[in-house]
Amino acid sequence: MSSVRDRFTAAPRGAFADVPFAAVPDAQWNDWRWQQRERLRTIDAFERVVKLSAAERHAFSACSDRFLVAVTPYYAGLIADDPACPIRLQSLPHAAELDDNADELDDPLGEERYMPVPGITHRYPDRVLFYTTHNCPVYCRHCTRKRKVSAAETMPDFQQLELGLKYIEANSAIRDVIVSGGDPLTFSDERLDELLSRLRAIPHVEIIRLGTRNLVTLPQRVTPDFAAMLKAHQPIYVQTHFNHPKECTQEAFDACARLADAGAVISNQMVLLKGINDDVEIVRALNQKLLMMRVRPYYILQADPARGTRHFRTPVETGIEIIRGLRGHSSGLAVPHFVVDGPGGFGKVALVPHYLESSDEGRHTFKNYRGETFEYVDP
Ligand code: SF4
Repeated sequence: MSSVRDRFTAAPRGAFADVPFAAVPDAQWNDWRWQQRERLRTIDAFERVVKLSAAERHAFSACSDRFLVAVTPYYAGLIADDPACPIRLQSLPHAAELDDNADELDDPLGEERYMPVPGITHRYPDRVLFYTTHNCPVYCRHCTRKRKVSAAETMPDFQQLELGLKYIEANSAIRDVIVSGGDPLTFSDERLDELLSRLRAIPHVEIIRLGTRNLVTLPQRVTPDFAAMLKAHQPIYVQTHFNHPKECTQEAFDACARLADAGAVISNQMVLLKGINDDVEIVRALNQKLLMMRVRPYYILQADPARGTRHFRTPVETGIEIIRGLRGHSSGLAVPHFVVDGPGGFGKVALVPHYLESSDEGRHTFKNYRGETFEYVDP
């Protein structure tokens, strides 16, 4: 009998037949530390795996000082020999990253503005963002936190983490902590276990969320030992960031299965990106795959106006149209919230298409997803 897992395919090790990673023994390939160590960071390293165009080579030299380049061999293996490949666009620098656009900000969500102590953003009353590292397996070119991520010199040190923990301990209104970064899964199991134990020991902390893209860019990170460690700290909510169905490989499926079996609730925050997923068919295919992977599509995020990311941004109307194309056409489970995070730190607002045509003295006229009109009368 075939299983749902059989509907997913293992990631290739590169678009070339003679890709050097083909010879890497499976045990090494599946070792997350090896994947971290062997990340592609230079033009030469990339050119052993991917054919770069002259424009990509130029952008690499021009941009990689401003926001580092790093891609795991696993994620690089998904890059097709096609300039429009969605994995390629998320991984390789583009010359437009250097454009200075007046509406773009280093800190588009005002995260520093709501920072009572270094490394904690406390914007909403009952929850905080806790920045634990500036490292990630892959530096996504559309990242909102370019100002921090990949910058080793501003990395939170032991003292800063301690300050953050003390702030959370001292504020009894905080019931939800989002452990973020960078990507906290770049820490060892032992270090994460220690951090989560400290948070779990705080009586008013009810929920811990882990923000991670490792499920997408380094699924080998989710080892059975890691999943067992996490299980001891439930309830744990894992927030991840799949942007395209191509990222839903058998390796990602297995990583999500291990987390879900350990009791973690996994949700996805897709960022709407021009030329990558600004298309309802792509988003529907992604969300349907995610549901098979036990990942709930949670948000479609309008791309933030982060410096050097204008080439990724879409009009707000695109997101609304994608929701219109999902609602009714697929299970409600596959329909996330489309949100715009207010630049400057105003928080999220959710947008939905207009289904209410008119209201008159308690009689409401709606149009459904097939364009049919119906009435609902208030009691
Ligand atoms: S994984 Fe997240 S924090 Fe890290 S570079 Fe990508 S978007 Fe930024």
